[in-house]
Amino acid sequence: MEELVERETILELKSRFFELISTGRLSVTDILSQMLTLLKELLQAAEVDLYRCEEWEHGMILEATTRSDLNEEITGNFPECLIGKLTETPQSFKKNPEFLPQYDLAFVLDAKGNVKNLCAIQMNGASGERLSDSLLERLVDECALFIKKIHTLAETTEEEKRYKQLFRVTKKFHSTMDMDAVLDEIITTLREVYPSFTYYLLLSHDHKGYGELPVKDLEYNSENQTAMQSYVSGKIQFEDSVIDKNSIMYAPLKGRQGVYGVLQVIAPDSLVFPQNEVEFIKLLANTAGSALENAKLYEQSRKLIADLQLINETSHQLNTSLRLTDTMKFICGRIIKSFDAREVGFIMLDEDNLDYSVLQGSTSFFFSKEASNYILKVAKRVKQDLEPLFIGDISYDIGGASTHFRSVMCVPMIQSGDLKGFALVMHEEPYHFAFDTFKLLQSLIHHSTLAFTNSMLREELEKMVVTDHLTKLYSRGYLDEKMNLSMLEDAQGTFILIDIDNFKCVNDQYGHQVGDEVLIQLARQIAKNIRGTDIGARWGGEELAIYLPGAPLEIGVMIANRLVDKVEKHTNPNVTISCGVSTWIRGQEDTTKTVFKRADQALYKAKGSGKNKVVVQNENQFDFSDEV
Ligand code: GH3
Ligand code: MG
Ligand code: MG
Repeated sequence: MEELVERETILELKSRFFELISTGRLSVTDILSQMLTLLKELLQAAEVDLYRCEEWEHGMILEATTRSDLNEEITGNFPECLIGKLTETPQSFKKNPEFLPQYDLAFVLDAKGNVKNLCAIQMNGASGERLSDSLLERLVDECALFIKKIHTLAETTEEEKRYKQLFRVTKKFHSTMDMDAVLDEIITTLREVYPSFTYYLLLSHDHKGYGELPVKDLEYNSENQTAMQSYVSGKIQFEDSVIDKNSIMYAPLKGRQGVYGVLQVIAPDSLVFPQNEVEFIKLLANTAGSALENAKLYEQSRKLIADLQLINETSHQLNTSLRLTDTMKFICGRIIKSFDAREVGFIMLDEDNLDYSVLQGSTSFFFSKEASNYILKVAKRVKQDLEPLFIGDISYDIGGASTHFRSVMCVPMIQSGDLKGFALVMHEEPYHFAFDTFKLLQSLIHHSTLAFTNSMLREELEKMVVTDHLTKLYSRGYLDEKMNLSMLEDAQGTFILIDIDNFKCVNDQYGHQVGDEVLIQLARQIAKNIRGTDIGARWGGEELAIYLPGAPLEIGVMIANRLVDKVEKHTNPNVTISCGVSTWIRGQEDTTKTVFKRADQALYKAKGSGKNKVVVQNENQFDFSDEV
């Protein structure tokens, strides 16, 4: 009979327990307290309390109760050994436990993992006595089963919630290429899931500007060796501190190509890091690592594109620009802008590398006396190693912190194996340039060197064209240029236009080869009869010209007459020349064009009046203002 009642009681308990969880909406705390209410009813107890004991926590915490008022008796600290004492007894329940005098009945239930629950019951008077051991045994079994179930259920729900969060985070990670947003999301999620933990992101210091994020530099020092170990090995590491009463976990932020930092999680009041948290954090850190990697790769590719654009644009400009000075100005401007440089110079070394010259278009600093300190220092090293230089602080090399510029980058310009010179980029702040910048400068200079040398060759060629190859006199363009300059700078100048008389006949009679010889003889006579500052030029064909900067008309006439005289005597086959002489004086409105014109008119007169003579410009030809 008693057996039947007991069975019914247990059945009743089971069905009521089932009802509790079948609604599926109650929280663990609610279910636990309702479970206690059920026990209270069933056992006709006064009050039922449920304590919780975690391995890493001292004492026990009241987790649920049927009481409406809490008092010292039940919330006070229990000795640590209590659970041990209770579980020591072969029976899983204890009536009138001597170490818990305030209770009539107590039993221990395994909750989950290291967590145990202590269910303690106060009876009404002696009502506890009537409960049979067999009933109590079955009751404890059912409660144990139920509590396990609740925790499993709660765990599943919790897990589901976490994976939902993880899913949300992952989605977010893949929708952004912004590293800061990714890091922010990691921290936010972790704080949501485990609010009692403290988090830090340990990142290698090439990252910059995180706003509010708890970022610490990942540096190798004795303090965070465990973090470093995690970073280097790519594995989760733990550090338990008995003194600080906390447990630290280091999870590497690992992608497919490398480790991008370490997530530090500090769990307070714990001696062992809770194992089920480890899995989740590990998962999150891995996801974050991949997301960081993506964001980083994306940033890198964007930077690469920008770099390529710079090189492409520069190359393009180099190929279209004609003047070396313009080219240099353009490149210096681009380097200053793109690299945030202060001074940019292009230094050319002469053939035996003993002397240097600064190319026009370099920033003005390089033409100062102070610059030679830097140039000589760098030149020495470049000549020695033929390698680019990346100097974070040159003051150590140059001596004294008084050096104005500290950061220095230098890239040699090497063409067909020869060192032509080098580009020098400087900034006053030490360690101002990033290594990426240095790499980019190298590409830029490598791509530009050919264009530079081409530009320089072209200028050299132009200089060569300044002299006429047959007569070795200057070209007409050069005379033009010099005469223009003289008309700006000098007070006066005189121009002589010379034409060989009846030259056609010489060609006809002796051939062009001999005609050329005669031209050369005439050129020699000219060179002999003028000074170094005077300009003898081939005007075109068999016409030659002389410009005498600063000379008055009389000097010009004298030289022209002397030439007419000498040519007549010293040419073979013998020829004569005619000269037209014109002059200009400061104050009179005149141009090279009008001076030429007057000489030409004078020459025309000489030809028309018997040749082999000098004719001077018409004096009244000065009044030509409305003529040209
Ligand atoms: P003039 O000047 O006295 O009026 O008679 P010209 O025979 O010299 O006539 P003009 O100056 O018009 O003719 C120029 C000739 O000079 C034509 C061309 O055959 C010759 N000539 C021009 N340039 C050169 C040159 O570089 N070498 C040679 N050999 N002959 C040249
Ligand atoms: Mg002629
Ligand atoms: Mg002639």
